[in-house]
Amino acid sequence: MSRKNIRRLGWLLGVISGVALAYIGVSSIFKRPPDVITTTATPLIPVNTPEHEQAMRPEYQDDVIDFEKGTRYWMDLILEEDPVRVAGRERVQYVNASRDVLDAVVFRVYLNSLAGKKVLDVSDVSVGGRAVDAEWEMGSSVLRIPLMEPLGPGESIDVALQFAFEFTPDIEINYGRLANRDGVFVLSAFFPLLSVYERGSWWNALPDLQGDPAYSEIALFDVTLTAPSDLKVASTGVTLAAAELSDGTTKHTIVTGPVRDFSVAMSRDFELLSAKQNDITINVWSAPGNDEADQFALEKTLAALNIFDAEYGLYPLAELDVVEAPITAAGIEYPGLIYLAGNSWQDENDFFEVVIAHEVSHQWWYSMVGDNQVEQPWVDEALADYSVEVYYREAYGESAGASIREQYQSSLDQYLAGGGPQMPVGLPVSAYDGRQYGVFVYRSGALFYSHLHADYDPARLRDFLRAYYIQYRYRIAHTEDLHRMIGEFFGTEAEAFFDRWVYGS
Ligand SMILES: [Zn+2]
Repeated sequence: MSRKNIRRLGWLLGVISGVALAYIGVSSIFKRPPDVITTTATPLIPVNTPEHEQAMRPEYQDDVIDFEKGTRYWMDLILEEDPVRVAGRERVQYVNASRDVLDAVVFRVYLNSLAGKKVLDVSDVSVGGRAVDAEWEMGSSVLRIPLMEPLGPGESIDVALQFAFEFTPDIEINYGRLANRDGVFVLSAFFPLLSVYERGSWWNALPDLQGDPAYSEIALFDVTLTAPSDLKVASTGVTLAAAELSDGTTKHTIVTGPVRDFSVAMSRDFELLSAKQNDITINVWSAPGNDEADQFALEKTLAALNIFDAEYGLYPLAELDVVEAPITAAGIEYPGLIYLAGNSWQDENDFFEVVIAHEVSHQWWYSMVGDNQVEQPWVDEALADYSVEVYYREAYGESAGASIREQYQSSLDQYLAGGGPQMPVGLPVSAYDGRQYGVFVYRSGALFYSHLHADYDPARLRDFLRAYYIQYRYRIAHTEDLHRMIGEFFGTEAEAFFDRWVYGS
């Protein structure tokens, strides 16, 4: 692409992180005592034969063996229309990987946090087949399930519950990551997802209304989704079977590899364009028409996968779905699936290409190497924005990569010239306003890596990112982990730069 076009990216890049959203105070919900859900025992969903290896590229199929003994989800989902309603049965095998004895397990219901009210309700909670009284906390953002018998290190339990919510268009949340609009159902953040137990407690911080809401660990998912037969389904994982039932619905059987969340989108209007590259199936699901843009989306996704495979280490999943969706951010990432906004879905569109590169790279940074997206969002977002520089350098040459870096720098310079404060990049989402979140967490965060690339040996940064990916794939990385590894790879001067740029000290 031309230099002029690259320059145009500058102001366009500001849009990636989406619209600025007002922060809604939530202090009042802490004063309410928790609601208690009194339940009867639920029969557990039968455990399916594991076929998770089908969701993996051939050389990674053995990776699922360990995870079959780890945390797993089985979900039966039903989407009904008229009125639109989602109902689910969920069974979770949770393994206590900590050194502590646990007296409860904690799920997060992001739909409720982001809607600011209890949209999703839970019933029939049981542990090991015995009914328990679960408690809502933090304004129905947290579902605490007390254990009758303490759970020791390495021990596992079976939790079952049912949930349901009315999926009316007015409950659209957080950039439309859950939305019923334009004939598309986007279902993310919609089921109780285990929180993370670390440093002696369950994570229960409330997500901000900007940025990504979830913090979760790797698990395997077995999902059946029953929905009207004319709805086409795009999801995390791979679909093993789609069986038409007599009532006009179809039951889709879906399995995943090791992933930290599950998202699914449905539409009657989806067109599908597929390709296979290096044993990965890429599915592009789009609104009808505009075939050139669909082809463009496919080609750039293939290019990005190739580049990041070579630069960071291989993407291990067998499928990546790219979904045109009525979201209000430019893109939203989920494991094995990215959403791209319909309003930038155009061929030969530089901004669209930037967003594709950013979102595809999230399959490495967030999906595989997990992070606390609420309290340390720079851990994935800075690398995703730096990956745009990597993509342009590899696809179009050194000067194209350098132009991306210049745009990030001018975005930061313009903000500071306007009198805005210099902020470190490693703060929680809630520390930034809408513009600051884009300028510091994304642009300034990417410049941290640009600096290591340009001012140290580029090969060393490549070695560092490959080592970081291998070490933290399927795990969670914290800012402190990056700090330690940067020190090991680049020395004390880089460590001091990290302290200044990331911690602000
Ligand atoms: Zn991102």
